[in-house]
Amino acid sequence: MSQFHWDEAAPSAPDPGVLAGNPAAQQEAAKQHQVRPQQISSLAQNAGNVLERARRIVDELPTEEESQESYERVQVDDKRMINCRADLNQLVPIKFDWAWDKYLAGCANHWMPQEIGMDADIRLWESDDLSEDERRIVKRNLGFFSTADSLVANNLVLGVYRLITNPECRQYLLRQAFEEAIHTHAYQYCVQSLGLDEGEIFNMYHEIPSVARKAVWGLKHTHQLTDPTFTTGTQEKDRELVRNLVAYYCVLEGIFFYCGFSQILSMGRRNRMVGVAEQFQYILRDESMHVNFGVDMINQIHNENPHLWTEDFARELTDMIVQGAELEVAYARDTMPRGVLGMNAQTMEQYLRFIANRRLEQIGLSRVYPSNENPFPWMAEMIDLRKEKNFFESRVTEYQTGGALKWDNMGKQSLSW
Ligand code: FE
Repeated sequence: MSQFHWDEAAPSAPDPGVLAGNPAAQQEAAKQHQVRPQQISSLAQNAGNVLERARRIVDELPTEEESQESYERVQVDDKRMINCRADLNQLVPIKFDWAWDKYLAGCANHWMPQEIGMDADIRLWESDDLSEDERRIVKRNLGFFSTADSLVANNLVLGVYRLITNPECRQYLLRQAFEEAIHTHAYQYCVQSLGLDEGEIFNMYHEIPSVARKAVWGLKHTHQLTDPTFTTGTQEKDRELVRNLVAYYCVLEGIFFYCGFSQILSMGRRNRMVGVAEQFQYILRDESMHVNFGVDMINQIHNENPHLWTEDFARELTDMIVQGAELEVAYARDTMPRGVLGMNAQTMEQYLRFIANRRLEQIGLSRVYPSNENPFPWMAEMIDLRKEKNFFESRVTEYQTGGALKWDNMGKQSLSW
């Protein structure tokens, strides 16, 4: 005799609640479905009990009238970046257009790693045409980035999302979290395509000192926030959230990524490792948006809570950005022991200090480094691709639909370099 399942009988099966107390109906159902009446009886009894429990709970839910007191319609002025008591499920009315606009731009720039061909890279990697210095750059950067984007994603999902109390910002944070997953996927895809040792690459953040120090620095700023009992609401706790945002948006995404980006994109400009370079180009576009979003969040929190920004606190944030720049300079020296790809550790150092000055200014702090020249002006062009959009065999301008995804359409205002 076949096993009888209630859902197989649907939709012709009578309500199990009705069947449970009705032997005649049970007999009829058993005949109809060619099963024993006891099976129908026991299934009907179980289903009847479940339904009864569900209906009891549904009936006990508060009526609309009873729950009236628990919410109010949100007005724009009720919305705040942190410590907001208004209902966070009411996306509109939107207060921060910059957050919603970045959410829309992020969605319009969607891409997936498998859409980028890696054949030329595989051929080059397997040939003798790449120098040891070039191989070191590819491996070190895949090693750093493959785990760095995962650290950023964890910090967002386990810490920042919970503490930012503005729905349009949360909407962008959800988009950003998915982009971090795509980036981790992209590095894994490069590692797999080139047949690299996965254990070696994914453990560099433990095993290679210049990579590990950057990861440890980031993790140091994530511990408090990812503790599920951490909440904002006191000056010290609010400052801890700001420290975390500066660490992750201004330093990790805003400085730690920039040596690697410029090295890999420099390879692409020389028609080498063009698939890896194209992946990094898309990632740089996303990351530049992440940095700008973080800067806007930090500045908005500052506007709402000027009392947090004491002289000591401003000095502390400045120190963090300088620490980040110095860690990245050490990473540049390690990844580039000799001049390669038209760059060397000295020019990279100058570039990173230029970037650090810019991050300081973006969040209203004073520059620290006296020299403020960008030795790699092509990086700025690379980010918005106005001048060099076909600089290597890239599908950036053609693979997207409806033109919505062209780098041109992002608007210079939304880009960070
Ligand atoms: Fe990011």
